[in-house]
Amino acid sequence: MDLLYKSTRSSEGTVTASQAILKGLADDGGLFVPVSVPKLDVTMEELKGMTYQETAYAVMKQFLTDFTEEELKHCIACAYDTKFDTEVIAPLVKVGDTYHLELFHGATIAFKDMALSILPHLLTTSAKKNHVKNEIVILTATSGDTGKAALAGFADVPGTRIIVFYPKNGVSRVQELQMVTQKGNNTAVVAIHGNFDNAQSGVKAIFEDKEFGTELADAGYQFSSANSINIGRLVPQVVYYVYAYAKLLEYGEIESGEEINVTVPTGNFGNILAAYYAKLMGVPIAKLICASNENKVLFDFFKTGKYDKNREFVLTSSPSMDILISSNLERLIYTAGGQDAEKTKALMYALKTDGVYEITEEMKERLKDFVGGYATEEETAQKIHDTYQSAGYVMDTHTAVAAYVSKSYREAGGDMKKMLVASTASPYKFAGSVMTAIDDKYNGIEDFALIDELEKVSGMPVPNAIKEIRNAQILHKRECDAAQMKAAVKEILNV
Ligand SMILES: *Cc1c(COP(=O)(O)O)cnc(C)c1O
Repeated sequence: MDLLYKSTRSSEGTVTASQAILKGLADDGGLFVPVSVPKLDVTMEELKGMTYQETAYAVMKQFLTDFTEEELKHCIACAYDTKFDTEVIAPLVKVGDTYHLELFHGATIAFKDMALSILPHLLTTSAKKNHVKNEIVILTATSGDTGKAALAGFADVPGTRIIVFYPKNGVSRVQELQMVTQKGNNTAVVAIHGNFDNAQSGVKAIFEDKEFGTELADAGYQFSSANSINIGRLVPQVVYYVYAYAKLLEYGEIESGEEINVTVPTGNFGNILAAYYAKLMGVPIAKLICASNENKVLFDFFKTGKYDKNREFVLTSSPSMDILISSNLERLIYTAGGQDAEKTKALMYALKTDGVYEITEEMKERLKDFVGGYATEEETAQKIHDTYQSAGYVMDTHTAVAAYVSKSYREAGGDMKKMLVASTASPYKFAGSVMTAIDDKYNGIEDFALIDELEKVSGMPVPNAIKEIRNAQILHKRECDAAQMKAAVKEILNV
């Protein structure tokens, strides 16, 4: 029997995994969730000896049951290959008394590569399976990292087009250059005058515009999403938590069955939700610690049960977490509400109209595995500085938010379980902020100028992703107002 998926906003109708991947978002604006999260059908003993690719198969086959073994193994082999600069794909590194799972060894040096290297393959396989004849147009809003990872994944993939929207002043210099220099005949990049939430809401509105959908279908196109609202983004992320646990066991860092805690630097709530799914699959994870920057809407939510996005949007040194509407939280709300689609729909409607909703005490109780924490700009910089001083390890700003939060969690509550920190970007991507944190003397110097300095202090070679953009030609110059995104899509697709 196939594992089926349904929308968080409607109790009717189910789709297969491949259909959910193709659609991205459900017709009613809800997110697809599996009717129940499957359990692992292999033991930790078996997982211990597995490669990343083997682990990926063991995990993903449980979710994507309408893919054949051959199809899924092919997707995995195409995704996790020499695009990664290490054979282990996601190295586990001990830094002081925490374990960093380095998720930035892919083509665009951010953890988004973990899912976006495989999504194009899952999507084209899904299209074949469902006899789709239309060209698939990937519409993506990005706070910086998704955009490049999606562009790299979809560039020149036959049968697909990709359009990326990013906030003009909301990404780092390196992030912007990575996107606007993207090659590939099927790629388009648009800077919008607005923030990430504007970009994401714009994309969602285009998805929900049925008339536009019909118009496009007549022209031979259909939309899908590369954002983490697509279940095809979420499932590949479950893998690395299973893998990390198995490696901790293999290296003798934990005993069989020992519970660990996980801290995840969070924006759209995709990565931490994947960790939660890993827990539901059977990985002994106790607490899921959700780390925010100064846009701490999630911290407040886990503390009070009230989600309130009506607040100032802060531009921080961890731009990929500058988000006030964390889309994937909807999936958790749905679970916490006992899979009640009507309730989820009402809460999401309140969020859209009033910018705020509050969950019941009972729902709050079901979320007690989650703990919120946040780091200010100063605390983030201090953490980068101190870790460099004490361990000689250089981390990026997003990872530093998580590292700070994991430390304060331990100090506050005395819960000393082994701590896994998701390390989500290479420091090279945020060289300016990282180097300034290490030493004031770099203040005011532009990201690019600091790359060579970063190589000296970190001892980590400059990644290809950075070398590539140093002299690359700018190929995308399009800009538009947030309200004009639909018009931009029409222009790009020529409809
Ligand atoms: C996207 C991103 C995050 C946030 O991940 P979510 O899945 O959106 O919560 C954190 N760090 C980096 C570097 C990112 O690119």
